[in-house]
Amino acid sequence: MAAAAAIYPPLNERPIKNTIVLFDVDETLTISRQLASPAMLQLLSELRQKVAIGYVGGSDFAKQQEQLGSAEVNVTSLFDFCFSENGLTAFRLGEKLASTSFIGWIGEEKYKKLVTWILHYIADLDIPIKRGTFVEFRNGMINVSPIGRNASVAERNDFTAYDTEHNIRPKMVAELQKAFPDLGLTYSIGGQISFDIFPNGWDKTYCLNHVEAEKSREDGVDYTTIHFFGDKTYEGGNDWEIYSDPRTVGHSVKNPEDTYAQIKELFF
Ligand SMILES: [Mg+2]
Repeated sequence: MAAAAAIYPPLNERPIKNTIVLFDVDETLTISRQLASPAMLQLLSELRQKVAIGYVGGSDFAKQQEQLGSAEVNVTSLFDFCFSENGLTAFRLGEKLASTSFIGWIGEEKYKKLVTWILHYIADLDIPIKRGTFVEFRNGMINVSPIGRNASVAERNDFTAYDTEHNIRPKMVAELQKAFPDLGLTYSIGGQISFDIFPNGWDKTYCLNHVEAEKSREDGVDYTTIHFFGDKTYEGGNDWEIYSDPRTVGHSVKNPEDTYAQIKELFF
């Protein structure tokens, strides 16, 4: 692949100075959960000759390696900055930066209180069926499901309908907010059967910490222009916070084709 073999100027010698371009992954660089097109990878490689480039995705690194890289190509060779899990896991020029975890941030004591409360609440919850895995412990968050993540597709569909009528998840989130007003946690209801709990600010803006840290490096770059391209840029969408952040220039795209066209227009 052309992109893997290309050689790029050092970050502080890119022709368009002090500029980095960040991309969401799903529906921005690739169709959701699918692979990036060769044309998109080629364009990114050409763009990288001019500015620093990076992706910022909510999923973990393995998922982005699968979508943007290949068996022969490590995704960290295709971008200057790789921000997985919104930057909790990060690579700079192929090297791993310090990573962050939910448990490291919250600490065992507070976590124990939180998860104990959740398990009690679910135990006392009167819903038609319960399965298994009510709390899934992940690197950057916990995922809570009143029915349990082991539910089958049919059981998930039934729960979604039940939840729409009875507000099981919204009520549980409201009770959690009441029980733990001082933990600084964000509750995000998404998908069919669960919701995520993570620290305030651990959305895509988290990766801007890494971008801002660049200026403190020897030969580092002070990125005064940070472009961001994403598809879910509306309020409540997972690109909203970074798109609307005063530190970025936000670009809203409809799909990867639109990203391609906007990049062409802006930089070529
Ligand atoms: Mg997206």
